[in-house]
Amino acid sequence: METKSTCPYCGVGCGVIIEHDATRITGVRGDPAHPANFGRLCTKGGTLHLSMTPQVMAQRLMHPQLRREKAAARERVSWDEALDHAAEKFARAISEHGPDSVAFYISGQLMTEDYYVFNKLAKGLIGTNNVDTNSRLCMSSAVSGYKATLGADSPPCSYEDIDHADCLLIAGANTAWAHPVLFRRIEDARAARPDMKLIVVDPRRTDTAEAADLHLAILPGTDIALYNAMLHVLLWEDLCDLDYIRAHTEGFDALKALVRDYTPAMAADICGVKADDIVTAARWFGQAPAALSLYCQGLNQSSHGTDNNAAIIHLHLATGKIGKPGCGPFSLTGQPNAMGGREVGGLSNLLPAHRDMANPEHRAEVARLWGVADVPAEPGLTAVELFEAVHRGEIKALWIACTNPAQSLPDLTRVHEALAKCPFVVLQEVSADTDTATFADLLLPAAGWGEKEGTVTNSERRITRVKAAVPAPGEARADWKIVVDFARRLEARLPARAATLFPYETAEAIFNEHRASTVGRDLDIGGLSYALLEQSGPQQWPLREGATVGTSRLYGDGVFPTASGRARFTSTQHRPLAEATDPRHPLHLNTGRLRDQWHGMSRTGVVARLHAHAPEPAIEMNPRDMERRGIAEGDLVRLKGKRGSILLRAAASTTLRPAQTYVPMHWGGRYMSGLGINALTLPANDPVSHQPELKHAAVQVEKFATGWQLVAMRRDDEGGLHAALQPWLARFDHATLTLAGRESTVVVLRAWGGENSPVPAPELLAELAAATGLDSPQMLAFNDARRGIAKRALIADDRLAGALLCNETRATDWLLDLIARGGSTAELRKWLFAPLATPPSSGPARGRIVCNCFDVSESEIRADLEAGLDLAALQKKNKCGTNCGSCLPELRRLAAKATVPVAA
Ligand code: SF4
Repeated sequence: METKSTCPYCGVGCGVIIEHDATRITGVRGDPAHPANFGRLCTKGGTLHLSMTPQVMAQRLMHPQLRREKAAARERVSWDEALDHAAEKFARAISEHGPDSVAFYISGQLMTEDYYVFNKLAKGLIGTNNVDTNSRLCMSSAVSGYKATLGADSPPCSYEDIDHADCLLIAGANTAWAHPVLFRRIEDARAARPDMKLIVVDPRRTDTAEAADLHLAILPGTDIALYNAMLHVLLWEDLCDLDYIRAHTEGFDALKALVRDYTPAMAADICGVKADDIVTAARWFGQAPAALSLYCQGLNQSSHGTDNNAAIIHLHLATGKIGKPGCGPFSLTGQPNAMGGREVGGLSNLLPAHRDMANPEHRAEVARLWGVADVPAEPGLTAVELFEAVHRGEIKALWIACTNPAQSLPDLTRVHEALAKCPFVVLQEVSADTDTATFADLLLPAAGWGEKEGTVTNSERRITRVKAAVPAPGEARADWKIVVDFARRLEARLPARAATLFPYETAEAIFNEHRASTVGRDLDIGGLSYALLEQSGPQQWPLREGATVGTSRLYGDGVFPTASGRARFTSTQHRPLAEATDPRHPLHLNTGRLRDQWHGMSRTGVVARLHAHAPEPAIEMNPRDMERRGIAEGDLVRLKGKRGSILLRAAASTTLRPAQTYVPMHWGGRYMSGLGINALTLPANDPVSHQPELKHAAVQVEKFATGWQLVAMRRDDEGGLHAALQPWLARFDHATLTLAGRESTVVVLRAWGGENSPVPAPELLAELAAATGLDSPQMLAFNDARRGIAKRALIADDRLAGALLCNETRATDWLLDLIARGGSTAELRKWLFAPLATPPSSGPARGRIVCNCFDVSESEIRADLEAGLDLAALQKKNKCGTNCGSCLPELRRLAAKATVPVAA
C-alpha cells in the first residue's frame, strides 16, 4: 500500500510516498508529482523508513508516564489520569500565580493544525502569550527581516525561480548539505544555463562554496558590511533601479547616506575578503537580469539577524529584483513546518494569520474568531527568555512538545539547571530517548511521521496535505488530539464559559478554522481545503476564495503590505559579534550541519548508515592552528568557551581560515560525554527577533593528553543497546557513543582516559562486557596486564558479534567491518592472542562513506581516482552519486583532487 506524505526533516518539504502494509512502514520513495522535489529525496529523506524499523519502534514511547514526586521513578498511567493530572497542575498554577506562570515550548516539526490549537490554548483559553517554539532558534530573524522591509512575513519566491535566475547569491547556507534536493535543482539550473553566476557567502569553504563561481569567505558576523558595500557599488556603478525605488519603496535616501561609508575597501577590511571580490559580486548581482538570493542560519542565528536579513533584502529592493521570475530574497526554512507555525502565529509575539500582537484591532479580530473576551497584548517569553524565567522560578508548569531544548538551546548548563528546578514539566514526544525527557515529570506519547495527518508548509509557501499511513504504536496519539483533550480538561477547571473553545473532532476542522482566520490577510487561503489539496496537490499561499491554484510569486505589482503600500529600506549598520575573541579565547567557533544528520539526531541518529558519512563528533581546525598547538589529526582536544567546555577529536581542514573552527551542531549528550556543542554557545540574541547567536562563540582549543583508549563494539539486533549504554558516557574522561553498519546496526562506544587516569580495571571491563552482551561463555578474552592491553571478542553463528579493545585499538576498523558486514573470522584468534600483533590485512580500512545509497567509501573513491578514473568512469564503476545525488558535490571535489583552500 502507498500513502502520500512529506519528508519531516528540512524546509524543502519534499513529497514522499510511504510504502506500508497498513501496520508497518516498509519503504519510502520520492513523490514524482510533488513540485518541491519531483521524486527526488536526499540521504535523509531516502532512509526515512529505516527510522521506523521494528528495532527502532520497540524503543518508542508507548504509554503516558508520570513522576508523582521529583525524586520518584516515572510510572505508567492512563491517558485520563495523565491529562487530568496535567490540567490540575496547570489550573493550580494559573489560579495561584496567574496565566503567565505557565508556558508552552513547541516545535517546527508539528503540523499546522497542532500549532493552531497550541496557540489557541495559550493565547485564547489561558490568556498568556507564553507559547514559543524551536523555530525561534532558526527562523525568527527571517520573519522580522521580512516584516521590517516588506511589511509581512511572506517569502516572495518559489523554487522555480532558481530555474530563471541569472545570478544566485547563497548566503549563510550550506545548501549542498542542509537542503540537498534544492541544491540538485541549482545544479540542474546551472547545467541548463551555464552563464548563471553562483556567489556563495560563507566563512567556510563548504561543498556549496566549492561549487561557486565566487566564494566570499567573510569573517563570522560581517554580513551587513558586505551587503552594504554591495549596495554602495550598485549605487556607484548606476546599477540600482531608481524608478522602482521611487515608485515602490521608502527610506532609501537614509540608507543611501548610510552606505556611502561602506566602500569596498572599508568592507573588505571588516569582512576579511578582497575589495575586488565585493565589487565583482555587486556587479554580477546588479547586471544580472534576474538575481535570486537564498539564505538560512548564517544570517538568522546572529545577534543582528534581523539586520542581516534586511541588508540582503535591500539589494533586491534597490535593483527592483523582486516580484519577477528568477528574482527575490528567499529565506530557506530549516524545519519542515516552521512556515506553518508562522502562519498560525505560533510564536510568543505573533497572532494568527500574520496579525500583529501590538495592533488592538488585530487582537480584537482574533478574540472574535476564538470567542474569547480578549487576547493578551504583551508579547510572551521568547525561547531564551522563557528558560531564563523557568530558572528564576517564574514558570510553574512548562509544556514541551516535539522538541529537545535540553540539547538545542544555547548555554545548556543553565537550561539544564532551569529544567531541573521547574516544578512541573510535560513532554509530548515520540521517544523518551532525548536529553529533555530526563527532566519530564509527565511523558506523553505522540504519533510521529507517517502516523498522523494534517498540513505542512515548506519554504516556498507551499501547503501539502499529509496523511497517516500506519497507526501510531501503543497508546501514542496525534499531537492536536493531545492538546484538545488537555484543553477541554483545563477549560473545566477554569472560570466557566458557555461552550468549549476546542470542539474539534478532526484535524480538518482545525484547518478550516485556521483558513477562516486568513481571509483578507496576505496569506489568505480562503479557497483552500483538504479536498482541493488532495485533488490538485500541494498549493502555495495565498489561494483566495474562487481561486483553484496558489500563487507562485508575490509583489509582482510592487505593492507591499505596509501602511503606505511601499517596501521599506531600514538602517543596517555593521555591528560586532556578541562575543568577541580575547587572549584566553582567541578562536572563533562556527557551528553548522552535517549532510546526513538532522537537528538533535533523535530521528536520523537511529539509522546506522546515516552515521557513516561523519562517524564521530569532531572539531575541524585550520592545520596552522593545530600545528601551533601541537595537535595532530585525530588527537583529543579540549574546546573551551566562556560557559563550558567539551572534548572532541581534532580534524584538520583547509576549508577554514586560521583562527576559525567548526563543530556540527547535532552531537548532544546522547552521543558524547558532556552536553554537546551548546554547552559553549551563548544566549545573546537579536533585539527584534530574539533569535540567539547560535552560530558563533569565542573559544580556545588545547590538546588533551590521553593515557589509554577503549572501544566496545556490538551488533544490536534487538534495538535498545544505544540507549542502554548512554550512562557509560559519564564514566570516562571522554567517550562517544555512535552507530555503524548498514544492514545490521553496530553500537560503538569509544572512551579515553587522561594521561594520569588509571587503565580500566578488569572489573570495569567485565562490567562493560556484560553491558554490551559480550560476556557469554563463547567470549574470547586476552589480557596483557603489563601493557594494560585487553581484547575481547564474541563469535556467534560463525560471525563476529562484538568486540572490546583496551589500549590496542588499531584493529577497530577491521573488527567493525567484520561485525557489520560479516566475513571470515579465521585470523581473529591469531591476532587476538598476540599482544602487539598488527591487525590482519583484509584490505585498507574503508573509512567514511561518501555515497550512502551505494555504500561507496572515500578510500575506495580515492583509490579509483588514483588509478586514473574520472568522475564519469567512477560513477559507471560503482554508481556513486547516481541515485539521490547528495554526495555529488563531494565527489566533484574529490575528483578535482584538491579542495581550494579558503583564503588565509
Ligand atoms: Fe527531506 Fe532531504 Fe527533501 Fe530536506 S531535502 S525535505 S531532508 S528529502
